[in-house]
Amino acid sequence: MSDECLFCRIVAGEIPAKLAGENDAAIAFHDISPQAPVHLLIVPRAHVSGLRAIGSMSDQNVHKMLSLAADLAQKLGLEESGYRLVTNDGPDSGQTVFHLHWHLLGGRPMTAEFA
Ligand code: AMP
Ligand code: ZN
Repeated sequence: MSDECLFCRIVAGEIPAKLAGENDAAIAFHDISPQAPVHLLIVPRAHVSGLRAIGSMSDQNVHKMLSLAADLAQKLGLEESGYRLVTNDGPDSGQTVFHLHWHLLGGRPMTAEFA
């Protein structure tokens, strides 16, 4: 846990967030500035700076983290309409929080362009 990391502090319960689901490897909460009717962030419990550092996670925890995203999409009824799961890494991506997180977006058609 890093005291300076916003998402570590959310995982620790020091900063409130609207929890959407959790398991022993990851938690999911609602993005504070939603870009779609459903906009969740799936975050590993342990600090990982971004996808580039995914090697610090065990295979089992990577699986649990991504399964949480898939399970929540199913639970929220997004499987039929579809959804997008995306992560930002590094300056060109616009990453602003340097703790790995997956944006789960759904509830409206996504644009064909990612940018
Ligand atoms: P990124 O730009 O990929 O690093 O995404 C960071 C995301 O975190 C943005 O979509 C923000 O809206 C979101 N965010 C920032 N602060 C909070 C917070 N306190 N609770 C929930 N989401 C947040
Ligand atoms: Zn962190």
